[in-house]
Amino acid sequence: MNNTKNTEVERRSFWEKLYIPEIAKGLGLTLAEMFKPKFTRQYPEERWEPLGSYRGRPVLVDDVDGERCVACGLCSRVCPALAIEVQADETDREKERFPVKFEINMLRCIYCGFCEEVCPEEAIVMSKDYELVFQRQEDALMNKEQLLVPVAQLQDRLEFLRQYR
Ligand code: SF4
Ligand code: SF4
Repeated sequence: MNNTKNTEVERRSFWEKLYIPEIAKGLGLTLAEMFKPKFTRQYPEERWEPLGSYRGRPVLVDDVDGERCVACGLCSRVCPALAIEVQADETDREKERFPVKFEINMLRCIYCGFCEEVCPEEAIVMSKDYELVFQRQEDALMNKEQLLVPVAQLQDRLEFLRQYR
């Protein structure tokens, strides 16, 4: 093994032994790359606006007449990460049930979108929110108030779902 290595070293020319051609090649490559179009983004100054197909933080749809959720619990049953907790209560409104408690543990969520897929009311959808930073574990438990997002802000996703469902 050592003999093979020695023979390779002996075969190298004087310039190759100095590594100058290799250094010049490396510098040439760096220079060429410097003038090519850049694909990196100066985040967070330059923000990225995802398309409707993007699956960010799951949120609850806050419609013009209130939350859409009827607390059927299907999303909680289907969630593979056991991230959703729903507690139902009764209401006098036409829909009869509503979630008195709706909580998603964002440390568990894997953004699979199963909750959105199974919901019969289009009440839970994947938003464009990808900036999730928590300093304490408890902060990752999002309650109903934190999850409710006005329907007007979710139009891209709702249109995407109607198009591809
Ligand atoms: S996106 Fe998936 S993991 Fe996250 S809450 Fe919905 S079903 Fe659970
Ligand atoms: S979000 Fe949808 S699936 Fe989940 S409890 Fe509410 S209505 Fe049912």
